[in-house]
Amino acid sequence: MNAPPLSPQMTARAAVELLTLGDELLDGRTADGNTLRVARALETLGLSLNRRTTFRDDRVAIAQAFQDVSRRADLCIVSGGLGPTTDDVTVAAMALAADVELVFDQAQWDRIVARFAPQTPPENNRRQARIPVGATALSSDVGTAPGLYLELGGCTFFLLPGVPDELQWHLDHHVVPMLAVHLAQLGLVRKRPTIYLRCVGIGESALAQRIEALPNLAWVEIGYRAGELDLELSLRGDDPEEVERFAQAVEAVGAGYVIGRGRAGLAERVVEAFRGRGLTFGAAESCTGGLLGATLTGVPGASDVFRGGIVAYANEAKTALLGVKPALLAEHGAVSETCARAMAEGARRLLKVDIAVSITGIAGPGGGTAEKPVGTVCIGVAGPHGVASVVTTHLRGARERVRQQSVARALEAARRAVLSLPILESET
Ligand code: ATP
Ligand code: MG
Repeated sequence: MNAPPLSPQMTARAAVELLTLGDELLDGRTADGNTLRVARALETLGLSLNRRTTFRDDRVAIAQAFQDVSRRADLCIVSGGLGPTTDDVTVAAMALAADVELVFDQAQWDRIVARFAPQTPPENNRRQARIPVGATALSSDVGTAPGLYLELGGCTFFLLPGVPDELQWHLDHHVVPMLAVHLAQLGLVRKRPTIYLRCVGIGESALAQRIEALPNLAWVEIGYRAGELDLELSLRGDDPEEVERFAQAVEAVGAGYVIGRGRAGLAERVVEAFRGRGLTFGAAESCTGGLLGATLTGVPGASDVFRGGIVAYANEAKTALLGVKPALLAEHGAVSETCARAMAEGARRLLKVDIAVSITGIAGPGGGTAEKPVGTVCIGVAGPHGVASVVTTHLRGARERVRQQSVARALEAARRAVLSLPILESET
């Protein structure tokens, strides 16, 4: 594999920039997701972005941007504008910035023709085979547009398609492997030791407070990334032992909340835990209306463990679908531990699973009372030996947040049941 012409001066603090191109990113049509993709890919190499700028499809402005970036960066990733239409100006802008001609790359054209076979490509696709003199084309298995790389003013540019899957493909198959080879050749093993910790059931600031009370912070860089279900903590430093020591200290102050190391999210870990024990899983959902099922089935391979979920929103549905007795509902109400218990048992019986969870709560904004305010959520877990646990949590936030956190707590309760850990009693 060819190494890109990265500047040999590139140091551990290399200046890396991203340009995202396209009118659609600035007029409200498309939310930029490519920054995330690029940043995550770079992160695997120990590189991080210094700056991200978005431009309209304006050839002259983009050419100017290329020149500006080339003066201050070592590496620049460019997303978008490689298509065959007249609004795709990235390649022309690069030719203008570098003051070079575009040349026809027969090999890329042959690849494009082969992609269209048995049809013939429209004439305007020829534009995608024209590349600036001095640039190298990067073939794609997933789209017509080739990526490109070239050096301009001491900065290496990667021009990549804007279509998210195509961009990702280029990152995975070209950019990251090429940069890894080159960085190794330069003797820059740049990846700083990093430990990721995954936490559930604790807010960012509550956890930060506990961490700030720990000694010896100075040499470990801490990053917090709150997801919909869980919180990812990254601990990064120069000395692996120091990072390890600090991670252990965080695991101790976050005991009960830290669910494990690594980048896998809660839903993946739940599937993994059930699969590891050969157990099946089912759910009864009220206020989350199927969100737990949707979340879990978002994990590839969930079918190994997840049998299904019953959405029983109204009281009548809880009775008809889960066998919750009307007298129980009348006495305790739908949002009660007794009801959560009955829902979990009903789901376990009807879905014929090893472990079932239930969620019943008040997501708000209405429906709260003094006794059961908005955010009151009861979660039950039923296992082979009856109800393993039932807890009431008081979640803060707007409706969607309460629903997501309910799913998180229920998934974690199920995971804990599988691993025979005590249930999370936490509140945040
Ligand atoms: P095409 O051949 O489709 O024209 P292209 O390389 O020219 O590909 P764009 O035209 O910039 O790329 O974008 C193609 C598609 O990818 C559009 O649907 C656009 O909304 C989407 N897209 C572009 N940039 C981004 C981005 N930064 N984040 C998310 N989606 C993006
Ligand atoms: Mg386009």
